[in-house]
Amino acid sequence: MKTLKEKILNNGESINGGLLKVDNFLNHQIDASLMMEIAKEFVRRYSGKQIDKIITVEASGIAPATMVGYLLDLPVLFAKKSKPGTMGSNMLTAEVFSFTKNSSYTMYINGSYLNSGEKYLFIDDFLANGKAAEGILGLVTQAGAEIVGMGFIIEKGFQNGGKELRDKGIHVESLAIIESLDNGKIVFRE
Ligand code: 5GP
Repeated sequence: MKTLKEKILNNGESINGGLLKVDNFLNHQIDASLMMEIAKEFVRRYSGKQIDKIITVEASGIAPATMVGYLLDLPVLFAKKSKPGTMGSNMLTAEVFSFTKNSSYTMYINGSYLNSGEKYLFIDDFLANGKAAEGILGLVTQAGAEIVGMGFIIEKGFQNGGKELRDKGIHVESLAIIESLDNGKIVFRE
């Protein structure tokens, strides 16, 4: 996606340890017009698939996932990263290791929103080692539901999440794939 790649080159910052900072338009301040273009591209790439609900993880997945949900007129469910006092006992959980924080956290979803037999499209900001995606896959599977695709705005191709998810047979779409961030230089995979 050309506009996204230009935005990354103009605003992204390669940080030590293989991290890309894109706070300017994705992880802190949000470029809503770009998010809508991104959502349209996801809708195009998953056209023809039966989807019952969009699923994501707080916080940065919510903006693009909501726009996809808006375009497809589908509900958007997000996993929470802290235990809500209001959730009750019907709670599904998954342990996830966070690459950016170098620590584990628990994902929580109210089981009454994840329904057996339904088809889910997962949307998220980044794909790195695929741990967040695996957590969501675990929750959806626990509920007897199905993932029909996983769409990421940015995939870091030098980490192994993309390969692992594709090897599982999941339909993964990433709108920009980063080949390397070495020496502060952002290089895309062609
Ligand atoms: P994974 O679970 O695939 O290892 O990591 C995905 C999650 O970690 C994303 O949802 C994102 O929040 C965060 N993440 C991973 N790598 C980066 C990065 O380079 N930059 C930013 N801003 N977030 C990242």
